[in-house]
Amino acid sequence: MPAAGGAPTTADERRARRFATEAVHAGRDDLAHRGLHTPPIDLSTTYPSYDSRAEAARIDAFATTGAEPDGPPVYARLGNPTVARFETALARLEGTESAVAFASGMAALSAVLLVRASLGLRHVVAVRPLYGCSDHLLTAGLLGSEVTWTDPAGIADALRPDTGLVLVESPANPTLAEIDLRAAAHACGSVPLLVDNTFATPVLQRPVEQGARLVLHSATKYLGGHGDVLAGVVACDEEFAGRLRQVRFATGGVLHPLAGYLLLRGLATLPVRVRAASANAAELVRRLAADPRVARVHYPRIGGAMIAFEVHGDPHEVIAGVRLITPAVSLGSVDTLIQHPASISHRIVDADDRRGAGVGDRLLRLSVGLEDVEDLWADLDSALGEPAPARTASGVWHA
Ligand SMILES: *Cc1c(COP(=O)(O)O)cnc(C)c1O
Repeated sequence: MPAAGGAPTTADERRARRFATEAVHAGRDDLAHRGLHTPPIDLSTTYPSYDSRAEAARIDAFATTGAEPDGPPVYARLGNPTVARFETALARLEGTESAVAFASGMAALSAVLLVRASLGLRHVVAVRPLYGCSDHLLTAGLLGSEVTWTDPAGIADALRPDTGLVLVESPANPTLAEIDLRAAAHACGSVPLLVDNTFATPVLQRPVEQGARLVLHSATKYLGGHGDVLAGVVACDEEFAGRLRQVRFATGGVLHPLAGYLLLRGLATLPVRVRAASANAAELVRRLAADPRVARVHYPRIGGAMIAFEVHGDPHEVIAGVRLITPAVSLGSVDTLIQHPASISHRIVDADDRRGAGVGDRLLRLSVGLEDVEDLWADLDSALGEPAPARTASGVWHA
Protein backbone atom coordinates (compact mmCIF):
# COMPACT_ATOMS: atom_id res chain seq x y z
CA MET A 1 0.00 0.00 0.00
CA PRO A 2 1.31 3.50 -0.70
CA ALA A 3 2.03 5.62 2.34
CA ALA A 4 -0.47 8.22 1.14
CA GLY A 5 -3.47 5.89 1.58
CA GLY A 6 -2.67 5.62 5.25
CA ALA A 7 -3.70 2.57 7.25
CA PRO A 8 -4.92 2.91 10.83
CA THR A 9 -2.13 2.20 13.26
CA THR A 10 -3.35 -1.22 14.36
CA ALA A 11 -5.70 -3.90 13.08
CA ASP A 12 -7.68 -3.62 16.34
CA GLU A 13 -8.26 0.05 15.72
CA ARG A 14 -9.51 -0.73 12.20
CA ARG A 15 -11.90 -3.44 13.41
CA ALA A 16 -13.34 -1.15 16.05
CA ARG A 17 -14.49 1.43 13.55
CA ARG A 18 -18.10 1.44 12.39
CA PHE A 19 -19.15 1.98 8.80
CA ALA A 20 -20.08 5.67 9.09
CA THR A 21 -16.75 6.40 10.78
CA GLU A 22 -14.83 4.60 8.02
CA ALA A 23 -16.80 6.57 5.42
CA VAL A 24 -15.48 9.81 6.89
CA HIS A 25 -11.96 8.75 7.92
CA ALA A 26 -10.73 5.92 5.68
CA GLY A 27 -8.04 7.08 3.25
CA ARG A 28 -7.27 10.07 5.50
CA ASP A 29 -5.56 8.41 8.46
CA ASP A 30 -2.17 9.97 7.78
CA LEU A 31 -3.39 13.54 7.29
CA ALA A 32 -3.20 14.90 10.83
CA HIS A 33 0.36 13.64 11.20
CA ARG A 34 1.26 15.45 8.01
CA GLY A 35 -0.24 18.64 9.39
CA LEU A 36 -3.08 18.52 6.87
CA HIS A 37 -6.85 18.50 7.21
CA THR A 38 -8.05 17.89 3.65
CA PRO A 39 -6.28 15.46 1.31
CA PRO A 40 -3.71 16.98 -1.06
CA ILE A 41 -4.34 16.62 -4.80
CA ASP A 42 -1.22 15.29 -6.52
CA LEU A 43 -1.39 16.20 -10.21
CA SER A 44 2.09 14.89 -11.11
CA THR A 45 2.32 12.82 -14.26
CA THR A 46 5.87 11.76 -13.46
CA TYR A 47 7.97 11.27 -10.30
CA PRO A 48 11.66 12.22 -10.27
CA SER A 49 14.33 9.83 -8.99
CA TYR A 50 18.14 10.02 -9.14
CA ASP A 51 18.35 6.28 -8.50
CA SER A 52 17.39 4.52 -11.73
CA ARG A 53 18.56 1.14 -10.37
CA ALA A 54 15.91 1.41 -7.68
CA GLU A 55 13.34 2.52 -10.28
CA ALA A 56 14.13 -0.59 -12.35
CA ALA A 57 13.55 -2.79 -9.30
CA ARG A 58 10.25 -1.06 -8.56
CA ILE A 59 9.08 -1.53 -12.15
CA ASP A 60 10.08 -5.21 -12.02
CA ALA A 61 8.11 -5.67 -8.82
CA PHE A 62 5.03 -4.09 -10.38
CA ALA A 63 5.36 -6.25 -13.49
CA THR A 64 5.48 -9.39 -11.32
CA THR A 65 2.57 -8.86 -8.93
CA GLY A 66 0.88 -5.58 -9.81
CA ALA A 67 1.48 -4.45 -6.22
CA GLU A 68 1.66 -0.68 -5.90
CA PRO A 69 5.29 0.46 -5.83
CA ASP A 70 6.66 1.50 -2.43
CA GLY A 71 7.06 5.24 -2.43
CA PRO A 72 6.16 7.40 -5.43
CA PRO A 73 4.49 5.75 -8.45
CA VAL A 74 7.28 6.36 -11.10
CA TYR A 75 4.66 7.45 -13.67
CA ALA A 76 1.01 8.42 -13.17
CA ARG A 77 -0.30 5.47 -15.20
CA LEU A 78 1.07 3.15 -12.48
CA GLY A 79 -0.85 4.89 -9.73
CA ASN A 80 -1.60 8.18 -8.03
CA PRO A 81 -1.56 8.98 -4.30
CA THR A 82 -4.84 10.94 -4.38
CA VAL A 83 -6.63 8.16 -6.25
CA ALA A 84 -5.06 5.65 -3.83
CA ARG A 85 -6.82 7.39 -0.93
CA PHE A 86 -10.18 6.77 -2.59
CA GLU A 87 -9.22 3.16 -3.34
CA THR A 88 -8.19 2.57 0.27
CA ALA A 89 -11.44 4.04 1.53
CA LEU A 90 -13.71 2.13 -0.85
CA ALA A 91 -11.96 -1.17 -0.05
CA ARG A 92 -12.55 -0.50 3.63
CA LEU A 93 -16.26 0.19 3.02
CA GLU A 94 -16.73 -2.94 0.88
CA GLY A 95 -14.69 -5.06 3.30
CA THR A 96 -12.07 -6.08 0.71
CA GLU A 97 -8.27 -6.08 0.80
CA SER A 98 -7.97 -3.70 -2.14
CA ALA A 99 -9.76 -1.60 -4.71
CA VAL A 100 -8.64 -0.39 -8.13
CA ALA A 101 -10.13 2.77 -9.66
CA PHE A 102 -10.71 3.45 -13.35
CA ALA A 103 -11.80 6.29 -15.60
CA SER A 104 -15.40 4.99 -15.69
CA GLY A 105 -17.53 2.04 -14.68
CA MET A 106 -17.19 0.64 -18.19
CA ALA A 107 -13.37 0.93 -18.02
CA ALA A 108 -13.51 -1.01 -14.75
CA LEU A 109 -15.65 -3.79 -16.25
CA SER A 110 -13.42 -3.90 -19.34
CA ALA A 111 -10.35 -4.36 -17.16
CA VAL A 112 -11.97 -7.30 -15.35
CA LEU A 113 -12.81 -8.97 -18.69
CA LEU A 114 -9.27 -8.39 -19.96
CA VAL A 115 -7.72 -9.90 -16.83
CA ARG A 116 -9.72 -13.08 -17.35
CA ALA A 117 -9.24 -13.17 -21.15
CA SER A 118 -5.46 -12.88 -20.64
CA LEU A 119 -5.70 -16.26 -18.88
CA GLY A 120 -7.61 -17.75 -21.82
CA LEU A 121 -10.91 -17.56 -19.92
CA ARG A 122 -13.06 -15.68 -22.41
CA HIS A 123 -16.47 -17.13 -21.58
CA VAL A 124 -18.77 -15.07 -19.36
CA VAL A 125 -22.02 -16.17 -17.73
CA ALA A 126 -24.33 -13.25 -17.05
CA VAL A 127 -27.82 -12.63 -15.71
CA ARG A 128 -30.11 -10.04 -17.31
CA PRO A 129 -30.95 -7.31 -16.83
CA LEU A 130 -27.62 -5.55 -16.59
CA TYR A 131 -26.85 -1.90 -17.17
CA GLY A 132 -27.41 -1.36 -20.94
CA CYS A 133 -23.79 -0.79 -21.89
CA SER A 134 -22.57 -3.77 -19.83
CA ASP A 135 -25.10 -5.90 -21.72
CA HIS A 136 -23.86 -4.40 -24.99
CA LEU A 137 -20.18 -4.95 -24.19
CA LEU A 138 -20.83 -8.65 -23.59
CA THR A 139 -23.37 -9.21 -26.38
CA ALA A 140 -21.26 -7.48 -29.03
CA GLY A 141 -18.14 -9.33 -27.85
CA LEU A 142 -16.15 -6.12 -28.24
CA LEU A 143 -13.33 -7.43 -26.05
CA GLY A 144 -13.37 -10.92 -27.53
CA SER A 145 -15.54 -12.42 -24.81
CA GLU A 146 -18.42 -14.80 -25.41
CA VAL A 147 -21.51 -14.57 -23.21
CA THR A 148 -24.14 -17.06 -22.06
CA TRP A 149 -27.22 -15.36 -20.66
CA THR A 150 -29.07 -17.25 -17.97
CA ASP A 151 -31.27 -16.75 -14.96
CA PRO A 152 -29.86 -17.13 -11.43
CA ALA A 153 -31.01 -20.76 -11.20
CA GLY A 154 -29.14 -21.58 -14.43
CA ILE A 155 -25.69 -20.30 -13.45
CA ALA A 156 -24.18 -23.65 -12.46
CA ASP A 157 -25.33 -25.33 -15.69
CA ALA A 158 -24.00 -22.49 -17.85
CA LEU A 159 -20.42 -22.81 -16.57
CA ARG A 160 -17.77 -24.20 -18.97
CA PRO A 161 -14.09 -25.02 -18.54
CA ASP A 162 -13.24 -21.65 -20.16
CA THR A 163 -15.69 -19.60 -18.05
CA GLY A 164 -13.74 -16.72 -16.55
CA LEU A 165 -16.46 -14.73 -14.89
CA VAL A 166 -20.05 -14.73 -13.69
CA LEU A 167 -21.62 -11.28 -13.80
CA VAL A 168 -24.76 -10.13 -11.96
CA GLU A 169 -26.33 -6.88 -10.80
CA SER A 170 -28.47 -6.78 -7.68
CA PRO A 171 -30.62 -4.75 -7.48
CA ALA A 172 -30.42 -4.69 -11.27
CA ASN A 173 -30.51 -1.67 -13.53
CA PRO A 174 -33.25 -0.74 -14.37
CA THR A 175 -35.86 -3.23 -13.05
CA LEU A 176 -34.40 -3.45 -9.51
CA ALA A 177 -34.67 -7.26 -9.70
CA GLU A 178 -32.75 -8.84 -6.83
CA ILE A 179 -30.62 -11.96 -6.80
CA ASP A 180 -29.77 -14.23 -3.89
CA LEU A 181 -26.04 -13.47 -3.95
CA ARG A 182 -25.12 -16.27 -1.57
CA ALA A 183 -26.81 -18.84 -3.80
CA ALA A 184 -25.24 -17.28 -6.91
CA ALA A 185 -21.77 -17.38 -5.34
CA HIS A 186 -22.32 -21.02 -4.40
CA ALA A 187 -23.37 -21.85 -7.98
CA CYS A 188 -20.17 -20.26 -9.33
CA GLY A 189 -17.86 -22.73 -7.59
CA SER A 190 -14.31 -21.55 -8.30
CA VAL A 191 -15.32 -19.08 -11.02
CA PRO A 192 -15.20 -15.50 -9.72
CA LEU A 193 -18.59 -13.88 -9.16
CA LEU A 194 -18.66 -10.18 -10.00
CA VAL A 195 -21.51 -8.23 -8.41
CA ASP A 196 -22.25 -4.79 -9.80
CA ASN A 197 -23.12 -3.04 -6.52
CA THR A 198 -23.73 0.39 -8.04
CA PHE A 199 -27.39 0.56 -6.98
CA ALA A 200 -27.08 -0.81 -3.44
CA THR A 201 -23.73 0.76 -2.46
CA PRO A 202 -21.87 -0.78 0.50
CA VAL A 203 -24.30 1.08 2.77
CA LEU A 204 -27.05 -1.43 1.94
CA GLN A 205 -25.12 -4.51 0.79
CA ARG A 206 -21.54 -5.84 0.89
CA PRO A 207 -21.43 -8.62 -1.71
CA VAL A 208 -18.05 -9.99 -0.61
CA GLU A 209 -19.66 -11.04 2.69
CA GLN A 210 -22.04 -13.18 0.61
CA GLY A 211 -19.31 -14.87 -1.41
CA ALA A 212 -18.65 -12.53 -4.34
CA ARG A 213 -14.99 -12.19 -5.34
CA LEU A 214 -15.33 -8.91 -7.22
CA VAL A 215 -17.50 -5.87 -6.49
CA LEU A 216 -17.90 -3.30 -9.24
CA HIS A 217 -19.18 0.25 -8.98
CA SER A 218 -19.97 2.89 -11.46
CA ALA A 219 -18.55 5.43 -9.00
CA THR A 220 -20.16 8.03 -11.26
CA LYS A 221 -23.36 7.31 -9.37
CA TYR A 222 -23.71 7.16 -5.56
CA LEU A 223 -20.02 7.10 -4.59
CA GLY A 224 -19.39 10.47 -6.23
CA GLY A 225 -22.95 11.42 -5.48
CA HIS A 226 -23.10 14.88 -7.05
CA GLY A 227 -23.22 14.21 -10.78
CA ASP A 228 -19.77 15.71 -11.43
CA VAL A 229 -17.37 12.74 -11.58
CA LEU A 230 -17.15 9.91 -14.11
CA ALA A 231 -15.39 6.94 -12.50
CA GLY A 232 -15.40 3.21 -11.87
CA VAL A 233 -13.86 0.96 -9.24
CA VAL A 234 -13.43 -2.75 -8.52
CA ALA A 235 -13.13 -3.87 -4.89
CA CYS A 236 -11.49 -7.29 -4.50
CA ASP A 237 -8.65 -9.33 -3.00
CA GLU A 238 -5.09 -8.05 -3.48
CA GLU A 239 -4.19 -10.83 -5.94
CA PHE A 240 -6.92 -9.83 -8.40
CA ALA A 241 -6.23 -6.14 -7.72
CA GLY A 242 -2.63 -6.64 -8.86
CA ARG A 243 -3.85 -8.03 -12.19
CA LEU A 244 -6.26 -5.13 -12.56
CA ARG A 245 -3.48 -2.60 -11.93
CA GLN A 246 -1.35 -4.28 -14.59
CA VAL A 247 -4.20 -4.05 -17.10
CA ARG A 248 -4.87 -0.45 -16.08
CA PHE A 249 -1.18 0.37 -16.57
CA ALA A 250 -1.08 -1.31 -19.98
CA THR A 251 -4.40 -0.01 -21.33
CA GLY A 252 -4.45 3.41 -19.70
CA GLY A 253 -8.00 3.70 -18.31
CA VAL A 254 -6.76 5.59 -15.25
CA LEU A 255 -8.79 7.87 -13.02
CA HIS A 256 -7.79 11.53 -12.87
CA PRO A 257 -6.53 12.68 -9.42
CA LEU A 258 -9.13 15.43 -9.22
CA ALA A 259 -11.83 12.78 -9.71
CA GLY A 260 -10.14 10.70 -6.98
CA TYR A 261 -10.35 13.69 -4.64
CA LEU A 262 -14.03 14.27 -5.39
CA LEU A 263 -14.84 10.58 -4.88
CA LEU A 264 -13.12 10.51 -1.50
CA ARG A 265 -15.13 13.55 -0.54
CA GLY A 266 -18.29 11.83 -1.78
CA LEU A 267 -17.66 8.75 0.36
CA ALA A 268 -17.73 10.83 3.55
CA THR A 269 -21.44 11.58 3.08
CA LEU A 270 -22.38 8.29 1.38
CA PRO A 271 -24.18 6.71 4.37
CA VAL A 272 -26.10 9.90 5.14
CA ARG A 273 -27.06 10.48 1.50
CA VAL A 274 -28.15 6.90 0.87
CA ARG A 275 -30.26 6.76 4.02
CA ALA A 276 -31.97 10.11 3.45
CA ALA A 277 -32.65 9.45 -0.26
CA SER A 278 -33.91 5.95 0.59
CA ALA A 279 -36.40 7.39 3.09
CA ASN A 280 -37.68 9.71 0.35
CA ALA A 281 -37.87 6.78 -2.07
CA ALA A 282 -39.81 4.60 0.37
CA GLU A 283 -42.42 7.35 0.76
CA LEU A 284 -42.69 7.83 -3.02
CA VAL A 285 -43.07 4.07 -3.46
CA ARG A 286 -45.98 4.11 -1.00
CA ARG A 287 -47.72 6.90 -2.92
CA LEU A 288 -46.99 5.51 -6.41
CA ALA A 289 -48.21 2.04 -5.40
CA ALA A 290 -51.51 3.53 -4.28
CA ASP A 291 -51.95 5.60 -7.44
CA PRO A 292 -54.35 4.40 -10.15
CA ARG A 293 -52.20 6.00 -12.91
CA VAL A 294 -49.38 3.61 -12.01
CA ALA A 295 -49.60 -0.02 -13.14
CA ARG A 296 -46.74 -1.42 -11.09
CA VAL A 297 -43.96 -0.23 -8.79
CA HIS A 298 -40.64 -2.08 -8.49
CA TYR A 299 -38.69 -1.53 -5.29
CA PRO A 300 -36.04 -3.83 -3.81
CA ARG A 301 -36.43 -5.58 -0.46
CA ILE A 302 -33.12 -4.12 0.67
CA GLY A 303 -34.49 -0.63 0.00
CA GLY A 304 -32.44 2.12 -1.59
CA ALA A 305 -33.05 5.30 -3.52
CA MET A 306 -33.92 3.79 -6.91
CA ILE A 307 -37.53 3.19 -7.99
CA ALA A 308 -38.86 1.74 -11.22
CA PHE A 309 -42.52 2.02 -12.13
CA GLU A 310 -44.78 1.29 -15.06
CA VAL A 311 -47.47 3.75 -16.07
CA HIS A 312 -50.81 3.06 -17.76
CA GLY A 313 -50.34 6.14 -19.92
CA ASP A 314 -47.51 7.30 -22.19
CA PRO A 315 -44.15 7.28 -20.33
CA HIS A 316 -42.76 9.93 -22.71
CA GLU A 317 -45.42 12.34 -21.43
CA VAL A 318 -44.24 11.80 -17.87
CA ILE A 319 -40.65 12.64 -18.92
CA ALA A 320 -41.91 15.73 -20.74
CA GLY A 321 -43.99 16.76 -17.73
CA VAL A 322 -41.44 16.96 -14.91
CA ARG A 323 -40.30 20.41 -13.75
CA LEU A 324 -38.35 19.95 -10.50
CA ILE A 325 -37.12 16.44 -11.30
CA THR A 326 -34.39 16.38 -13.96
CA PRO A 327 -35.18 14.30 -17.06
CA ALA A 328 -31.75 12.72 -17.58
CA VAL A 329 -29.94 9.41 -17.66
CA SER A 330 -27.55 8.50 -14.81
CA LEU A 331 -28.44 8.26 -11.14
CA GLY A 332 -27.21 8.56 -7.59
CA SER A 333 -26.91 12.32 -7.44
CA VAL A 334 -28.20 14.65 -4.72
CA ASP A 335 -31.02 15.69 -7.07
CA THR A 336 -33.80 13.48 -8.42
CA LEU A 337 -33.48 12.17 -12.00
CA ILE A 338 -35.98 10.32 -14.15
CA GLN A 339 -35.46 8.51 -17.44
CA HIS A 340 -37.14 6.03 -19.78
CA PRO A 341 -34.81 2.97 -19.98
CA ALA A 342 -36.22 1.66 -23.29
CA SER A 343 -35.29 5.02 -24.88
CA ILE A 344 -32.01 5.83 -23.15
CA SER A 345 -30.08 3.68 -20.64
CA HIS A 346 -31.07 0.38 -22.28
CA ARG A 347 -31.61 1.61 -25.84
CA ILE A 348 -28.46 -0.15 -27.04
CA VAL A 349 -29.84 -3.55 -25.98
CA ASP A 350 -31.81 -5.41 -28.69
CA ALA A 351 -35.53 -4.68 -28.15
CA ASP A 352 -36.52 -8.35 -27.71
CA ASP A 353 -33.67 -9.00 -25.27
CA ARG A 354 -34.62 -5.86 -23.41
CA ARG A 355 -38.29 -6.80 -23.08
CA GLY A 356 -37.31 -10.37 -22.23
CA ALA A 357 -35.31 -9.02 -19.30
CA GLY A 358 -38.36 -7.20 -17.95
CA VAL A 359 -37.48 -3.76 -19.30
CA GLY A 360 -40.91 -2.89 -20.67
CA ASP A 361 -41.75 0.06 -22.90
CA ARG A 362 -43.82 1.68 -20.13
CA LEU A 363 -41.13 1.41 -17.47
CA LEU A 364 -39.68 4.57 -15.95
CA ARG A 365 -36.63 4.70 -13.68
CA LEU A 366 -36.46 7.25 -10.89
CA SER A 367 -33.28 8.07 -8.97
CA VAL A 368 -34.55 9.75 -5.83
CA GLY A 369 -32.48 12.59 -4.39
CA LEU A 370 -32.42 14.68 -1.25
CA GLU A 371 -35.17 17.21 -2.00
CA ASP A 372 -38.20 17.49 0.28
CA VAL A 373 -40.42 14.52 -0.54
CA GLU A 374 -43.54 16.71 -0.74
CA ASP A 375 -42.00 18.75 -3.56
CA LEU A 376 -40.97 15.55 -5.36
CA TRP A 377 -44.44 14.11 -5.05
CA ALA A 378 -46.06 17.34 -6.27
CA ASP A 379 -43.86 17.21 -9.39
CA LEU A 380 -44.51 13.50 -10.05
CA ASP A 381 -48.22 13.94 -9.40
CA SER A 382 -48.50 16.66 -12.02
CA ALA A 383 -46.23 14.85 -14.52
CA LEU A 384 -48.38 11.70 -14.25
CA GLY A 385 -51.27 13.71 -15.66
CA GLU A 386 -54.99 13.02 -15.46
CA PRO A 387 -56.07 9.81 -13.72
CA ALA A 388 -57.13 7.02 -16.07
CA PRO A 389 -60.80 6.08 -15.57
CA ALA A 390 -61.73 3.16 -13.31
CA ARG A 391 -58.32 1.67 -12.62
CA THR A 392 -57.07 0.27 -9.36
CA ALA A 393 -53.52 0.41 -8.11
CA SER A 394 -51.62 -2.86 -8.07
CA GLY A 395 -49.08 -2.26 -5.34
CA VAL A 396 -45.35 -2.84 -5.02
CA TRP A 397 -43.66 -5.57 -7.00
CA HIS A 398 -40.63 -7.29 -5.51
CA ALA A 399 -38.89 -9.09 -8.37
C1 LIG B 1 -23.80 3.61 -15.04
C2 LIG B 1 -23.59 2.19 -14.75
C3 LIG B 1 -22.47 1.51 -15.24
C4 LIG B 1 -21.45 2.17 -16.14
O1 LIG B 1 -20.72 3.13 -15.44
P1 LIG B 1 -20.05 4.42 -16.15
O2 LIG B 1 -19.41 5.11 -15.00
O3 LIG B 1 -21.16 5.19 -16.80
O4 LIG B 1 -19.07 3.91 -17.14
C5 LIG B 1 -22.30 0.19 -14.87
N1 LIG B 1 -23.20 -0.45 -14.08
C6 LIG B 1 -24.29 0.18 -13.62
C7 LIG B 1 -25.26 -0.58 -12.76
C8 LIG B 1 -24.53 1.50 -13.94
O5 LIG B 1 -25.64 2.10 -13.48
